[in-house]
Amino acid sequence: METTDLPLGFTLDLPDWMEAELKLLPDAVPDLAARMALVLRLARLNTERQSGGPFAAGVFERDSGRIVAVGVNRVVPSACSSAHAEIMALSLAQQRLGVYDLGGPDLPAHQLVVNWSPCAMCFGAVLWSGIRSLAIAGSDPAMMAITGFDEGPMPHEWRQELAGRGIELIEGMLREESLADFRRFAASGQAVYNGRQGA
Ligand SMILES: [Zn+2]
Repeated sequence: METTDLPLGFTLDLPDWMEAELKLLPDAVPDLAARMALVLRLARLNTERQSGGPFAAGVFERDSGRIVAVGVNRVVPSACSSAHAEIMALSLAQQRLGVYDLGGPDLPAHQLVVNWSPCAMCFGAVLWSGIRSLAIAGSDPAMMAITGFDEGPMPHEWRQELAGRGIELIEGMLREESLADFRRFAASGQAVYNGRQGA
């Protein structure tokens, strides 16, 4: 590779089908379970359209439910190991608002809603994002057992770490629906990418 081939930047995009999907979304989703249902729908569509892994996330204003940004997993189509749904949603929310800190002054509290618990990378991204609330469908080993996706070396004390940094954690929302979607993904035979897991 010539040095003139060295990249100057990179772009991550949501899949083409998302444009029509975004037009169908309301401005706000006040009900928390309805926020998770929206995220599950996007994850399911990402599996059906084969446009990434079976994960989706949304950034909402915590109290009003206003939708700030949504994301789906784009690792395989984007050739980018960090294009997880949480990274997509948080980054798009920050780009939309023009801030690197979603918890900054003069901003309403923001909530990230995801269809499973964060991996080791996204856990860090959650901490740095400024969100005040994290809502997830589950955090037990069931997802990894079904899909084979690796969440990496999460700190054992991750719940306490969130609490200590003032980030509320809501667990177990629509867990069974989420697991049913992961089973559908596993049955579809699509790629399960993971980092190195051995020597
Ligand atoms: Zn992740």
